Amino acid sequence: MGEEEKQGVWAAMSSGSLAQGPRVRELEEAFAAFIGAGHAVATSSGTTALHLALLGYGIGPGDEVITVPFTFIASANSILYTGARPAFVDIDERDFCMDTAQVEAAITSRTKAIMPVSLYGQPADMDAITEIAERHGLAVVEDAAQAHGAAIGERMSGTWGAGTFSFYPTKNMTTGEGGMITTHDGELAERVRLLREHGMKVRYHHEVVGYNFRMTDIAAAIGLAQLPKLPAFNERRRAIAARYDRELRGVLTPFVRRGVTHVYHQYTIRVRDRDVFAETLKERGVGSAIYYPVPVHRQKPFIALGYGDEAYPVTDRLTAQVLSIPVHPALSEGEVSAVIGAVNETAVELGPLEVTTAG
Ligand SMILES: *Cc1c(COP(=O)(O)O)cnc(C)c1O
Repeated sequence: MGEEEKQGVWAAMSSGSLAQGPRVRELEEAFAAFIGAGHAVATSSGTTALHLALLGYGIGPGDEVITVPFTFIASANSILYTGARPAFVDIDERDFCMDTAQVEAAITSRTKAIMPVSLYGQPADMDAITEIAERHGLAVVEDAAQAHGAAIGERMSGTWGAGTFSFYPTKNMTTGEGGMITTHDGELAERVRLLREHGMKVRYHHEVVGYNFRMTDIAAAIGLAQLPKLPAFNERRRAIAARYDRELRGVLTPFVRRGVTHVYHQYTIRVRDRDVFAETLKERGVGSAIYYPVPVHRQKPFIALGYGDEAYPVTDRLTAQVLSIPVHPALSEGEVSAVIGAVNETAVELGPLEVTTAG
């Protein structure tokens, strides 16, 4: 948090507009302009953005939404909240995102939408997914919670179908808690606006059963100070990633598809003996984290729903190998060098990862 964020919050509090107000509107307009989407609707979190986007497309009980099990739980939970059922397809080993070759086989008469996840800051293959969706009359909701400013060519994440973002503190930009839905579809934007605020256009006249999924003006004030910094944050993440790409040895570094701008929400390597690797890094003074240690289909509530026996071989294999190393924009060059030294020493000690499939 810089001075701009603090002054923004102070101004919001002094204005007396604490809940959703003019700053939320301003952030929506600025974010839509930044992403290149026609509309942006701010929400209380990335999770409520996903939930609202699905509701906005009319998804509910009896429907199925195709997503991946290699993601944060919110992607799949948001589908359950609507009463629909998540149908999982495995990820592509190279980019950790939905394997587009497996999507069509998962489509049934109940399928209403496809929810790819642009994991770690790399957009899923949105053109291929949108093409499949259009052919089958399905909606597309991109979980872009980790992909603010990521792009395929010139086109940013959040501009296919509906995109949803999170502004949780660890994300590439933050509002404390918060989220955003972006879309070119004006009718969808209208519906999610209505649902965000108790189905209310005219005060205390409720057209549908809605929710309170509003962002506060205090949060929006933080976002308005963060958004102009996002390009520099992302550039710094990309510069750190470029050093890792060049200087790391004995581990598998991230694969970036041609023409894609990866914004490195995480810099995730694949290593041998992952848990020992992480422990050794810690002894060398380098933090790391596993996103995610248990795939969604193996989480307790999903086992209870009958998903526990389903197998997603790539997800299951990569879950045991992935390790995310520090890539935060506040890292100094010295800290980046220290991470590189520690990773390379550890990789020599533990030996290289044996990769059986092209990575
Ligand atoms: C962070 C995140 C979410 C949820 O966002 P919140 O703001 O924490 O509710 C959803 N999906 C993915 C992939 C995320 O990383």
